[in-house]
Amino acid sequence: MAASGTNWAGNVVYRARELAQPTTLDELRAVVVRSAAVRPLGSRHSFNRIADSDGVQVSLGAMPGTVEIDGDRRVVRVGGGLTYGQVAPMLASAGWALPNLASLPHISIAGAVQTGTHGSGARNPSLAQSVIGMEIMRADGEIETLGRDHPELDAHRVGLGALGIVTATELAIEPAFDVAQAVHTGLPWDAAEEHFDEIMGAAYSVSMFTGFADDGVRQVWVKRRTDAETTVVDLEGFGATGATATLHPVPGGDVAAVTPQLDQPGPWHARLPHFRSEFTPSAGEEIQCEYLLRAGDAVDAIRAVRGLSERLADVLYIAEIRRVAADTAWLAPSSGRDSVAIHFTFRRDEAGVAAVLPAIDDAFAPFDARPHWGKVSAMSADRLRAVYPRLADFAAVAHRVDPGGRFRNPYLSDLLD
Ligand SMILES: Cc1cc2nc3c(=O)[nH]c(=O)nc-3n(C[C@H](O)[C@H](O)[C@H](O)COP(=O)(O)OP(=O)(O)OC[C@H]3O[C@@H](n4cnc5c(N)ncnc54)[C@H](O)[C@@H]3O)c2cc1C
Repeated sequence: MAASGTNWAGNVVYRARELAQPTTLDELRAVVVRSAAVRPLGSRHSFNRIADSDGVQVSLGAMPGTVEIDGDRRVVRVGGGLTYGQVAPMLASAGWALPNLASLPHISIAGAVQTGTHGSGARNPSLAQSVIGMEIMRADGEIETLGRDHPELDAHRVGLGALGIVTATELAIEPAFDVAQAVHTGLPWDAAEEHFDEIMGAAYSVSMFTGFADDGVRQVWVKRRTDAETTVVDLEGFGATGATATLHPVPGGDVAAVTPQLDQPGPWHARLPHFRSEFTPSAGEEIQCEYLLRAGDAVDAIRAVRGLSERLADVLYIAEIRRVAADTAWLAPSSGRDSVAIHFTFRRDEAGVAAVLPAIDDAFAPFDARPHWGKVSAMSADRLRAVYPRLADFAAVAHRVDPGGRFRNPYLSDLLD
């Protein structure tokens, strides 16, 4: 029996009394049926207690690493313990791609999609939208297969680990493509706000990095597909400067960690994430929070956070602003609305972060902002129910498929019971 330890960032010490690491479906089934409380654990990259358990956590990391590519159906079927960093190079070398990736490739596919993880791009929904089927172990140890037409696939895509343990996922794939990534620095706030939609829609994936202080948007990362006709906006005309050296988004960060920039084309999986797969990030030393709100409210929301810049300065490493297209998944933070995602990477100063979170919540409240399920927030369960209108429907599905609450933990009980 292994002890569970901490999440990647080290800000959560798991309470689970056991970490089970089955190597087969039968061993996984045995863990599920013997445990009154069991939670699937992915690559531990969440910052809150969503993956914790009062009983057993179960990792699928030792299960077979199935990757089955079906080019005719344009689908890849992947095992429930695999990470994007493991699967993406295999897809690429077979000539295929996923439409988008998050900033870090080391996260597990199942864990990422279950929390609504996203990359950037005005036309790119969350990573969960690529899920067209899944195999999920229910509380009785039986595996249910959900196909593309299953009426509740949208409840399961972003399922918070509350509906069962995803043992395999089917993801839609497309022909491989190349991406070139260029960084601009010093975009003044006036230009960023006046031309926000134009800049964020200019390329396949665009990110703005800022400290919300008067120095404006410190870096704009523009990732363009080389096969697409993209009008790249003239950021220099807006007052920014093209970077001539590779930059890390966090001041003082190690540039060896970031994916190639300087507009050098390369395979999709080596450009869409900000961080290199082959660079193993050391222990987190950071805490993240993120809110998604209607894309049309982006500029007003940015102004509201700029008003907090002095309070943020002591704890904020960097903030990132991205665009996410509307999702059909019930609990995706971008569900039903084209969204802007405003993300904060804080120092691992738990008291300092806890002190600023309510102010961030308040700043975003007028916009019905939805927090990322895998990051910290000060939002109450009542408020979560208000901003996620399908939460009651989701709770009904959770109670039906898991009537005894085997997959529940205190975090989910607050929300669903
Ligand atoms: C450095 C860093 C960068 C990040 N970048 C981004 C980003 O660019 N965009 C973004 O949106 N988010 C980002 N995140 C957040 C991250 O994607 C989410 O927290 C995600 O859930 C992490 O996946 P995980 O496997 O580590 O999840 P865990 O923390 O292990 O688990 C998260 C949830 O998934 C469930 N789960 C895990 N495996 C399974 C399974 N097999 N079946 C069912 N449920 C399962 C767990 O029960 C839990 O509820 C980042 C996090 C870090 C630390």
